[in-house]
This record gives sequence, C-alpha cells and structure tokens, in this order.
Amino acid sequence: MDLIELRDIQKTYHLGEVDVPVLMGVSLSVSKGEFMALMGASGSGKSTLMNIVGCLDHPTSGEYWLDGGEISRLNAAEQARLRNRMVGFVFQTFNLLPRTSALENVMMPLNYARDNLTEHQKRERAVALLERVGLADRIDHLPSQLSGGQQQRVAIARSLINHPQVLLADEPTGNLDSRTSEEILQMFQQLNSTDGITIILVTHDPGIAQHAGRTVYIKDGLIAKNPGRLEPRNDT
Ligand code: ADP
Ligand code: MG
Repeated sequence: MDLIELRDIQKTYHLGEVDVPVLMGVSLSVSKGEFMALMGASGSGKSTLMNIVGCLDHPTSGEYWLDGGEISRLNAAEQARLRNRMVGFVFQTFNLLPRTSALENVMMPLNYARDNLTEHQKRERAVALLERVGLADRIDHLPSQLSGGQQQRVAIARSLINHPQVLLADEPTGNLDSRTSEEILQMFQQLNSTDGITIILVTHDPGIAQHAGRTVYIKDGLIAKNPGRLEPRNDT
C-alpha cells in the first residue's frame, strides 16, 4: 500500500441551503519518497484536496488511507496526533505569527506534540532547522524584519520540526520572485532526495512543477491527467 491513498474522494461544502460540490471523486496514490506536483486552475479544488490529505478537513465521502490507516475511522484526537506526527505544511502566505521571533515560530508546533522534550531540546532542534535553511543569523528576527523568501524559509523550518514524513506545500512560491522561488524549490528537492520526505507541491507554474518527479492535474474537482509515476520525467 502507498503512503497516501485517496479512493473516490468527494467533498461538498454547504453554504446555507446551497451545496457546493468541489471534489467529484478523486482517486490518487502517492508513494513514500515521491515528489509530486499538483496543478490546476484557480478554484479547481487543489487546496481542498491538500487540506484533506493533511487531515485539516474531512471528505464528504470516499476513503483516505495514510500510512496504512483509514483516516475516517480515527477520532478527532487520533487524527490530530497523526497529523502532527506525519505532516508538515507550507503555505503561500507563510502564515507566521507576526509578533513572534523566527525561533519561536519554528518551535510553535512542538507545543502540540507528544514528545517529552525539554525547553532546551526544543530550542536546539529549532536552531538546527533554522541553520539548515540558512537563517542561523536571523533566529531572533520578527517576520516583519525578514524578506518573503526568508519568511518562507522559517515556515519550512517550522514544517519540519516534528520530523514529518510528508510535506504539503500549497503554492509556496506564489508570493516570491523567480530567483527566490528557485532557492525554495532547491530546498524542497533536497528535503526529498536527501531526507526522503514525500512532497506534494501545489503550483500554477509549469516551470516550478518540472522540479517534481510527477505532475498531476486537477480540473473541476477531478484528476484530469495522471501520467503515472513510471513515466520518464520531461524536462524540455
Ligand atoms: P484552488 O486551491 O484550486 O484554487 P480551492 O480548493 O481553494 O481551489 O476551492 C475550490 C472551490 O471550493 C472554490 O470554488 C471555492 O470557492 C470553494 N470553497 C473552498 N473552500 C470553501 C469553503 N470553506 N466553503 C465553501 N466553498 C469553498
Ligand atoms: Mg488554493
């Protein structure tokens, strides 16, 4: 069984009396260690799908198997624990706490983890990650004192603090210039190739998507084109 298996996932939002169907039956598998790009027009359901994969939201129907377990059979606390242990998130808008230092932002998810780390150990782990993303000299800076690319690096360090197996990045370079985007992309590639972290990266940009091993397209809530992970990568 693959690390991530979605089977006929449907998602309908309810706005008052109105049903808004968004995902119409998505089936998708992602292997451990894969780097997959997810592309599709605005409104096609990419973020909705990522929120389900990250256990931030529930499908209306269908099965979601993560690491061999079916998610809907877990209670809310078990889902939260699984999410903390398995999944890191990176967002387009960085989502850092504004009046909080880079270091404290990176440490923040540890407050919800069950590891019994001392404050000193938490700090050491966060400092090591900030060093890893090239921000050793910025640990006491507030987000407003950092560039966009630096803020996204802090967010990447934060996403790694619980040693996730899966990194979900929803348009992580959407607010960055092309050179900074390239640096952030290289960081994801390294996390995938060196650390074996499974990555799903949402993007509008085919140039960004070609860094991935496979690109999946979603259109109107359905997987439109799934080349299959055995197809050779097309870099042209
Ligand atoms: P994408 O990330 O591909 O741009 P989204 O998954 O954010 O698309 O949204 C897909 C559709 O679902 C859009 O039409 C959006 O308006 C709708 N939608 C998203 N979240 C909600 C929500 N919480 N309630 C109602 N509709 C929503
Ligand atoms: Mg989106």
